[in-house]
Amino acid sequence: MITLSNIHSFVLGLQAVYTEKKEYLTQLDSPIGDGDHGINMARGFDAVIKAWDAKPPIDIGEAFKTVSMAIIKNVGGSSGPLYGTMFLRMSAFVGKKAEIDLTDWTGALEKGIEGIAQMGKGQKGDKTMLDAFYPALDALKSAESKTLKEALSASAQAGTEGMKGTIPMLAKKGRASYLGERSIGHQDPGATSAVYLLEVAAEKFE
Ligand code: ADP
Ligand code: MG
Repeated sequence: MITLSNIHSFVLGLQAVYTEKKEYLTQLDSPIGDGDHGINMARGFDAVIKAWDAKPPIDIGEAFKTVSMAIIKNVGGSSGPLYGTMFLRMSAFVGKKAEIDLTDWTGALEKGIEGIAQMGKGQKGDKTMLDAFYPALDALKSAESKTLKEALSASAQAGTEGMKGTIPMLAKKGRASYLGERSIGHQDPGATSAVYLLEVAAEKFE
């Protein structure tokens, strides 16, 4: 089961990884964007931790809502509203549960990804975070017989493959799409931050 305390470890882990990878994500966002993705993610999760400490959530739905609101209020650009919407949809799906299982996590992620696709009008192959999230979700759905840990690792691995798959893609959404053909040959920063999220989930939920 995934408990509220596991979710707390997850958000602390995200703050740590986005702080550690701030420069790298910003480097990825430089040739095909405006070089702020690492700054956005690190700032967002610093704000999440502040909000969490100021008013510790009492269930998992509230925890995802805390994450969502802090990101929406503190991160501009496209990734702020997109990740913010993702966590808001996850919050609505989970509701007042104190712990969730693999099926709940898969369902929450599915709703969250739908939110990203609706808000950004994006789809698979556009060279965005969705190219990491969709394969990760598919892996989760076909992992029902696996343990939580195995399923989450398979999901992070599928996300990583999807992320690498963005390198030869031509961007169709976001700032990178302004570059047309010149967006080819670069790994998408948002797909990379999405993989960190999946990896931290695999590390913290057991
Ligand atoms: P901005 O592009 O506004 O500077 P960020 O640099 O923080 O915002 O985030 C860029 C990332 O956001 C991209 O790498 C891409 O993965 C993601 N992104 C941008 N637009 C969309 C969209 N319409 N749908 C899904 N993801 C998107
Ligand atoms: Mg940017």
